[in-house]
Amino acid sequence: MQIQVSHLRTGSKEIEYTLSLIECPRIKKPIIFNSEGMKCYCKVKDQGSGIFVTGNFSVFVKTECDRCIKEIHFEVSGELDLTLMPEEEMKESDTDVEISLNDSDIDYYSKGTIDLNKIFEDQFLLEYPLSAVCSENCKGLCSECGMDLNQTVCECSKKPANNVFSVLKKLQE
Ligand SMILES: [Zn+2]
Ligand SMILES: [Zn+2]
Repeated sequence: MQIQVSHLRTGSKEIEYTLSLIECPRIKKPIIFNSEGMKCYCKVKDQGSGIFVTGNFSVFVKTECDRCIKEIHFEVSGELDLTLMPEEEMKESDTDVEISLNDSDIDYYSKGTIDLNKIFEDQFLLEYPLSAVCSENCKGLCSECGMDLNQTVCECSKKPANNVFSVLKKLQE
């Protein structure tokens, strides 16, 4: 979804659409959107000093637990509050541009076109958890035998201890 800045002169524009995973090249496997895709809503307004974009998004994702690779599902959602400045203008005037508009984040657009897909993809990546786990207490997989330590206690952690005992036993003999 792209917006031509020249079409905004008449005021604000409200946009509601669905973003599919294919349109988000930076969101990588194993993350998958559910079939409904990412629901995006935004209001775009040209304020002369910049273009304000406010809105929100939400999407249900399927991925793997970072520790035990079990399939997990959760919602990723967030709010948008951005001020977009033309990239070309920023380069020309460099440091002279005064950015004291409000507390919103600053982003850029180029060639008079706002790329909403990129904006929503950025916001998704910002909101996505650094570590996606099935549970905070997930014990993960054994690094030796690959067994799921949430379900079983494997013998790997016991072995070294056994060996020490057997060595001691031998020494005692
Ligand atoms: Zn897990
Ligand atoms: Zn093991």
